[in-house]
Amino acid sequence: MKKLLFCIGTRPEAIKLAPVILEAKARARETLILTTGQHQDLLEPFLKWFGIVPDVRLEVLYPGQSLSELTARILSEFQPALARLRPDLVLTQGDTTTAFGCSLGAFYEKIPVAHIEAGLRTHDPYSPFPEEMNRQLIGRLATHHFPPTEAARANLLKENIPGTKPVTGNTGVDALRITLERVTPAKETRPEKSILMTCHRRENHGAPLERICRAVRRVLDANPDTVLVFPVHPNPNIKNRIDGLLGDHPRVRLVAPLGYVEFASAMARSTLLLTDSGGVQEEAPYLKKPIFVLRESTERPEGVDAGVAELVGSDEEVIFSNVNRALNDRDYYGSFQKAVSPYGDGFASRRILDGLEGTLA
Ligand code: UDP
Repeated sequence: MKKLLFCIGTRPEAIKLAPVILEAKARARETLILTTGQHQDLLEPFLKWFGIVPDVRLEVLYPGQSLSELTARILSEFQPALARLRPDLVLTQGDTTTAFGCSLGAFYEKIPVAHIEAGLRTHDPYSPFPEEMNRQLIGRLATHHFPPTEAARANLLKENIPGTKPVTGNTGVDALRITLERVTPAKETRPEKSILMTCHRRENHGAPLERICRAVRRVLDANPDTVLVFPVHPNPNIKNRIDGLLGDHPRVRLVAPLGYVEFASAMARSTLLLTDSGGVQEEAPYLKKPIFVLRESTERPEGVDAGVAELVGSDEEVIFSNVNRALNDRDYYGSFQKAVSPYGDGFASRRILDGLEGTLA
């Protein structure tokens, strides 16, 4: 029987590959799981909840190492693991250094790669960095490319990438569907409105983060019935600044990053979301929650095009006026709640496994 090797480095890779692994197992495929250790602490509890146990755990993360050292370490540790496991197909997700390193390592061993969430592009090699270049390079290295949306598929076709598959939807929406089917989020008993926020991208460090926090403070001051829940990334560059900017506000709850199940429930309970995360942009519209994207540009234009997301960047005035309006203007709030879920219907993993049936026969 053909062996499938799933490579996972970071939290979003675990979240987005877990439903594909479950689907492969449901089809009695032989699955092997390798973690590189890029985010070990954040992803182990999540994998456990999905009943997934890594077969191999690499340890590629060393304090202060450069991107070159990280890439080199992934390559040199992945090669012996590949030699031992001898998979027939390697599956990578998205645009991380793990996804790039494992795709390149598999290519060197002439093992075909299936790339999940293929075709996202900003066309700016330095934004996001190094993710944009990682995904473009995986676009050349992989054999099978599974685009989550029509726009992603069009990008692949424009680049003449052979092996471009039909649109699947994003497997992150599958993870959310499966999770919320298993746990029913507790109903919010307090009458207050709540904003759920995440903000940790490098582009927002420094002055943009200060403007964003000032805008959020103004929103809270103008809306005494509103609370902010903000899981803060442990990176000290961000954490210390946010503590200083928002920590003293009585309606701000700064918390450590939430486990995925808890975060999914918090999303389901929230009134609206403010984020610079990629995955959250895909998840919020499935839950029909207005989402304000704290980025100047996004490789996920589908939400903005469909009118279920608003790109607000880090402009204090723009953030304040949009969020304040969403909290107070029912029609504006309702305009985000469309029937469409532009990033998927929660059944992408089935389409991916269907798309691989021929290769795995
Ligand atoms: N997430 C989580 N706990 C949190 C914040 C986010 O589990 O406290 C989840 C979220 O639901 C999404 C993913 O983590 O699926 C997004 O991760 P991140 O923002 O690190 O990466 P990106 O999506 O921007 O690549």
